[in-house]
Amino acid sequence: MKNNLKDTHRIPSDTSTCVICSEPIDVIVRTSDDKVLWDGGCNAEPVAEGRCCSYCDQEVVIPTRIQIMLAQRRSEIDKVVKREKSK
Ligand SMILES: [Zn+2]
Repeated sequence: MKNNLKDTHRIPSDTSTCVICSEPIDVIVRTSDDKVLWDGGCNAEPVAEGRCCSYCDQEVVIPTRIQIMLAQRRSEIDKVVKREKSK
């Protein structure tokens, strides 16, 4: 996949739209022979159910996942701090 990405470009899908912004999902095409490599978009969970475009993946979905992860970390740290204080 890593090697393939150098030889790719993206075109808007004419069949599937993003569940977050309703724009067409981007299709990854190999430039040298116009072969479609990926047209499934990105997983929109936990923001929405279904598939989203790569813009929403980077700007909305991934930041949301990071925030959830940090919130979980913070609550774990709070538990440890509480436990230590009660000793
Ligand atoms: Zn989108």
